[in-house]
Amino acid sequence: MKKLYGVIGLGRFGGSICKELSKEGGEVLALDLDEDKVNEYKEIASDAVIADSTDELALKELGFRNLDHVIVAIGDNIHASILTTLLLREIGVKRITVKAQNDYHEKILQKIGADEIVHPERDMGKRIAHSIISSNVLDYLELSDEYSVVEIKAGEKMQGKTLLELDIRAKYGCNVVAIKRGKEINVSPMADEQIMYEDILIIIGADKDISRFEKALVIED
Ligand code: ATP
Repeated sequence: MKKLYGVIGLGRFGGSICKELSKEGGEVLALDLDEDKVNEYKEIASDAVIADSTDELALKELGFRNLDHVIVAIGDNIHASILTTLLLREIGVKRITVKAQNDYHEKILQKIGADEIVHPERDMGKRIAHSIISSNVLDYLELSDEYSVVEIKAGEKMQGKTLLELDIRAKYGCNVVAIKRGKEINVSPMADEQIMYEDILIIIGADKDISRFEKALVIED
């Protein structure tokens, strides 16, 4: 059965989620207070409505309780974002993802039971900073406040060496969880695996350890 999504708040973030979910064939109910935004998404989403998401009755009448996954993408109005999340939880939405504006907002969202909390600006800022530090850092994904996963293109310092020789776990406390070579992906590579030029390494570790690893082996002099 087709998954039913709801997107509340059609700013740049919510709007982009709405477009992408619709493009991938999802059934999307888009909602915003702003009539112009709603008109913009009338042709894109399965349905686009003008409503205030802090109005419990409106959410009920629009059938939000039947949706599988709702994304709350209200930015500046933290109060509205929190109240909306609370109402969605109460009416029984199965899964709720909320965009958080700051750490204080995130803490409250955790307490009221948001399933996923995202910080698009902060996360994108981190990713871009890492790719600015080294163009070999292809992606940076935060797992928690302390741990991340990074995708790194093997540069000169790693080429031709085995994982055992590089000794990444002992020296830097990070784990190489996979190596991508062209279309092949080697999950849990063995210690004798030799790194080739332009291999892509997926590494997991504490941020401070990843930073030491990047300084030693990724950033080229
Ligand atoms: P962006 O994703 O563009 O960065 P933003 O973080 O600046 O957005 P806002 O522009 O503050 O977020 O809000 C996103 C959208 O949410 C706006 O289009 C706004 O009209 C809508 N919105 C705010 N409050 C409500 C509400 N109570 N009910 C429905 N929509 C709302």
